[in-house]
Amino acid sequence: MKPIQMVDLKGQYEKIKADVDRGIQEVIDTTSFVKGGKVNEFQAALEQYLGVKHVIPTGNGTDALQIALMGLGLKPGDEVITPTFTFIATAEVVALLGLTPVVVDVDEKTFNMDLKAVERAITPKTKAIVPVHLFGQNADMEALLNLAHNHHLYVVEDACQSIGATYTFSNGTQKKSGCMGNIGCTSFFPSKNLGCYGDGGAIFTDDDDLAARMRAIANHGMVVRYHHDFIGVNSRLDSIQAAVLLAKLPHLDEYIVARRKAAAYYNNAFAGCDKIETPYTAPNTDHVFHQYTIKLMDVDRNALQAKLKEKGIPAMIYYPVPLHLQKAYQDPRYKAGDFPVAEKLCSCVLSLPMHTELDEEQLQYITSSILALV
Ligand SMILES: *Cc1c(COP(=O)(O)O)cnc(C)c1O
Repeated sequence: MKPIQMVDLKGQYEKIKADVDRGIQEVIDTTSFVKGGKVNEFQAALEQYLGVKHVIPTGNGTDALQIALMGLGLKPGDEVITPTFTFIATAEVVALLGLTPVVVDVDEKTFNMDLKAVERAITPKTKAIVPVHLFGQNADMEALLNLAHNHHLYVVEDACQSIGATYTFSNGTQKKSGCMGNIGCTSFFPSKNLGCYGDGGAIFTDDDDLAARMRAIANHGMVVRYHHDFIGVNSRLDSIQAAVLLAKLPHLDEYIVARRKAAAYYNNAFAGCDKIETPYTAPNTDHVFHQYTIKLMDVDRNALQAKLKEKGIPAMIYYPVPLHLQKAYQDPRYKAGDFPVAEKLCSCVLSLPMHTELDEEQLQYITSSILALV
C-alpha cells in the first residue's frame, strides 16, 4: 500500500508533470516573472470557469480577504460578522484593519454560520458579513444574501476551501462558490483544492468599480504608473504559480469528483457506526470536500489520533480552538460558553486524509482501522 498522507501533492503532480513543467519553463524562458502573460491567461481562464466578471489574482488568500475589506472602504470601528469556527485569517484581516470582528456561532450540521445568530449580531455599526464555506460546502447563501440586502450589508465570501462548489438558489439559478456576494476570496495554498506550488490567492467580483479599486489596492493603490490613488499593498500572484494553476484548472472538476468518491467511501464505511457522525451536505449546495470531517461521539479523540498515527494514518483537528477563545482575540464581549456549538465541534471533530489520489486499498485500511478503534 502507498503511504497515507493527509494530502498527496506528489502523486497528483506526476499525472500532470508534462504540462506543469512546460508552463514553468515557459515563464523562465520569457523571464516574465511578475505580471506576466501567464497571470493574465490564468485570470481569464478562472473568470470563464467561475462565470464571474472579474478575477483579481493576489499573493495569497489572506491578502485577498484584506484587499476585499479595503476595497469596500470600511472604517475603523465598523463591525464585520464572521463565524467563530474557521481558520484565523478570516478574522485576522478584520482586526488588522482596525475593524471590529463580531463573531457568531455555527450550525452543528453544516459547520457554517448560523443565520439566526448573524441576524441577532447585526447592529447599526455592522457593515459586512464574511461567511466561510467551511470544508468545501457553501454556507446558506440565499438566506444570507436576503438578510444582507434587508440590512444594507456587504457580503465577502471566504471561499478559500470551496473553489468549484456550486450553490443552487430556490429559483433554480446556480452559482459558483465565491461568486454570490459582493466579493469572493480564495486561496491557492498548495493543499487547497486548486493549489499552486507556493502561495497564491484571488478575489472574485461582478462589480466593475470594486474590481478596479481592488486591483489598484493590490498594486500599491496605483491606477496610473507612479500615481497612487489609494493606500494599497503589494500582493501579486507570480507567473510561475499562474503557470502551475493553468495546468491544474482544467482538472479541477475531476479532482472534485475524486474527492467526492473518497468521501462516499468513508460515508458508506461509517454508516452503521453510532460513534461517528459523517459530514452532512445541505440540499441547496454541493460539497467539494476540502476536508472530510467527522464528529466523534463518546470517543477519546486524542487517543484515537495517536493510535491512528502508529498505524500510519494521519488525522487532523480543524479547528481545535474557536476564534473567541484564541489568546490574541480575547475580547471582554466574549467568554467560554458563549458559542456552544463551535466549542462542542472543536472538541469532537476529526479530519481524515482527503485528496485526489486516495485509492481503495488505502480507504479500506483507514476505515477498518478507525472502526476497530472507536
Ligand atoms: C487557507 C485559508 C485562508 C487563507 O489562505 P492563505 O492563502 O493561506 O493566506 C483563509 N480562510 C480560510 C477559511 C482558509 O482555509
